[in-house]
Amino acid sequence: MRVAVIGGGVSGLSAAYWLLEAAGAGTDLELHLFEKRDAVGGLCQTVGMEGGFRFDFGPHNIHSVDPWFNSFMEDLLGEEYRTRVYKPRVVFRDRFIPYPMKGLDILGGVSPLTSAACAASFLWSRIESLFTEWRDDTFEDFIRNRFGRKLYDIYFGPFTEKTWGVPGSMISADFGRQRIGVFTLWDLFKRTFLGMKPKAVEAEEDPFLNSRCFYPDRGSGTIIDTLRRACESDPRFVLHSPEPVEGITPAGGGYVLRTAKCRFDADLVMSSISLEDLCRMLGLPDPGLVYISTRFLLLTLDQESVFGSTPWVYFADDRTAFNRVSEPRNMSPEMSPEGRTSLCIEFTTTGSDRISAASGGDLLDLALAGLSRYGLLGRGPVIDWKVVDWENTYPLRTLDYRKATGRALASLAPFRNLFTHGRLGRFEYYNMDHCMTEARSLAGTVAESLAGGRH
Ligand SMILES: Cc1cc2nc3c(=O)[nH]c(=O)nc-3n(C[C@H](O)[C@H](O)[C@H](O)COP(=O)(O)OP(=O)(O)OC[C@H]3O[C@@H](n4cnc5c(N)ncnc54)[C@H](O)[C@@H]3O)c2cc1C
Repeated sequence: MRVAVIGGGVSGLSAAYWLLEAAGAGTDLELHLFEKRDAVGGLCQTVGMEGGFRFDFGPHNIHSVDPWFNSFMEDLLGEEYRTRVYKPRVVFRDRFIPYPMKGLDILGGVSPLTSAACAASFLWSRIESLFTEWRDDTFEDFIRNRFGRKLYDIYFGPFTEKTWGVPGSMISADFGRQRIGVFTLWDLFKRTFLGMKPKAVEAEEDPFLNSRCFYPDRGSGTIIDTLRRACESDPRFVLHSPEPVEGITPAGGGYVLRTAKCRFDADLVMSSISLEDLCRMLGLPDPGLVYISTRFLLLTLDQESVFGSTPWVYFADDRTAFNRVSEPRNMSPEMSPEGRTSLCIEFTTTGSDRISAASGGDLLDLALAGLSRYGLLGRGPVIDWKVVDWENTYPLRTLDYRKATGRALASLAPFRNLFTHGRLGRFEYYNMDHCMTEARSLAGTVAESLAGGRH
């Protein structure tokens, strides 16, 4: 049985790892993993720069509260799977405020008049909800209905538009439902103005409202390196990297994969590349899914610290061109050499804007101009820099994303022995733990059918 795994991010690598494990050493299995880039790991890689600096693509910490997952990771990484407390911040009207922001922090940053308008519009939204049923068509509706128009206009709206490159009116309310669960009026009040967790969320221990996470000493790439080593120690595993898959054709119950270097006959395919790319390769109609891309500017600095102990800062302002800046050594001191620090600066792009057209030097200028505005960094301490461009970093939940995802999955459904998984393969807002757990379950299903002689 020849299995092809397309995409060597954490999803593809985990699928390979668990299929090798679940299929048992005696099974007739040949597993080939195809990765487009010259290293596996996708977005979970940790890359190095000269001088002993290490970077994740945005700090990749693990928020899982699943006991099985955490104990698996402890077995995999040992002591490196370390609990950390992290306290990110967001820049709002020139102030560095703890994130997620509390209403009182927002109100403290605006004039008494704006503050009164926020409180009044919050109350008005509550009164309105007594007489009319909420219509949550868009993310903007979702927020305005719960937090009031004014808070949306001064904080949620600009932050969303800066992060996703489109206004909240073009984003599905699902995004709010997933990220901002609110319950009773009292919960809402506590959440909005005091930053306290609603009871129901407390019960579930919502990891996003928790400031505890797991983070390996030498970055998320440690997970990738460990999975890769385990796969490579198995003679049934073959890694093709860098080797993008350029075409897939159904043939005799399986598939022929085409790359610049080979034609590969696979009995079964597991794909974690984008649904758009997979549909295109199979000659299916474009489902119309939208992805956001990110340009990561990595800076090494001859300076001890930029943000103190803060691991990352969201820039929700209109004075900077970037969205988030992280300082890796504030997640783990092993990410940079003693006495020196580094920054990873994230620029979001929709693919046809000034950020996508900017040269690396332009991005550096934009970064330094933005950071110096806040007195954080000038050009002097910069030792070295590089830009890493990454497409399809975020699935964008546009208003019709559910229909578009449904269309893509429905058009793929008739293809037997072809499975899609992962953040891009399911068009889901997955984190690493979701990707790994899903890959394990998929590998288990595939191994069962292998054992039963079924495809
Ligand atoms: C800025 C940022 C910060 C994040 N922070 C966190 C965090 O703190 N915690 C967390 O848990 N998650 C975080 N995530 C989410 C996490 O990165 C993803 O859930 C995870 O990396 C997705 O893994 P994947 O393998 O599904 O996709 P990817 O990592 O995108 O992997 C897909 C792979 O497919 C390859 N590929 C594409 N086309 C082809 C082709 N034609 N042929 C062969 N290979 C191909 C790509 O090169 C890539 O390696 C973050 C994401 C971003 C963008």
